[in-house]
Amino acid sequence: MSGTTILQYTANLLSELKDIYPGYEIKQFGRLLLQHVLEVDNTQLLLMNNDLLNEEDKNTLDTYTKQLKNHVPLQYIIGSTEFYGLSFDVNPSVLIPRPETEELVDWILKDNHQPKSLLDIGTGSGCIALSLKAHWPDTRVTAWDISDKALETAATNARRLKQEVIFEKVDVLNCTSSDRQFDCIVSNPPYVRELEKTMMEANVLNYEPSSALFVSDSDPLIFYRTIARLATQILSPRGYLYFEINEYLAKEMTELLRDTGYSNIECRKDINGKDRMMKAQLT
Ligand code: GLN
Repeated sequence: MSGTTILQYTANLLSELKDIYPGYEIKQFGRLLLQHVLEVDNTQLLLMNNDLLNEEDKNTLDTYTKQLKNHVPLQYIIGSTEFYGLSFDVNPSVLIPRPETEELVDWILKDNHQPKSLLDIGTGSGCIALSLKAHWPDTRVTAWDISDKALETAATNARRLKQEVIFEKVDVLNCTSSDRQFDCIVSNPPYVRELEKTMMEANVLNYEPSSALFVSDSDPLIFYRTIARLATQILSPRGYLYFEINEYLAKEMTELLRDTGYSNIECRKDINGKDRMMKAQLT
């Protein structure tokens, strides 16, 4: 029999990428790439093991394999990812939604009874705003970002998920107080310090938007300080502020929030045991 079967292609992928990624990850990559290119779901794919790949699909897969070898994130190659049970379009102008951010969304949902209004600052793909809106249809959700391309991606996701969120282009670092009020404010701002770059993987460092990730070593809490101050003007009395945070700066974050006039400050660890989320109430 000539040609390559799906099973053979998967084995080939494993050997091509084995020096770069762990085996379990390559298997998952292979499955998701094949599903994407062949436009089938996981069950259909399992029944196709001995089918031959046509030339066109094989060429596409070869291109993607090369990209994976160069550390291009799989989510950018296939153009989407799952977040809190929903599918989001992603591209290099937005951060790929992380599992720890799902944990933040989960905390907010379990902690609150459908607030009237909510603001997500630095929405990126819109993953926080849209997954909260999906669970709280009556909440008026607003989402800010400084990047036009991110806002476009978030709006596309809103259309695909049939959710109504108000997207606004706002540079939070240069935002004078607004007269609006929100019952809840959430943000996952850039928080990785330049000094932490050495610990980062090539797929993140070389392909994800640095404006969504990095802050200067000299003022790593600039976004948090600015947002906490702004929130004293636009958060309802006794309203809640939620942040995803840098795991090494939980202590500094607690002090910052206390000094800015918040109480009931609570820090939670993510699934990896790292200080990752913070909640504070305006007093
Ligand atoms: N947790 C992300 C990472 O380490 C960073 C997210 C962020 O900066 N907001 O890749």
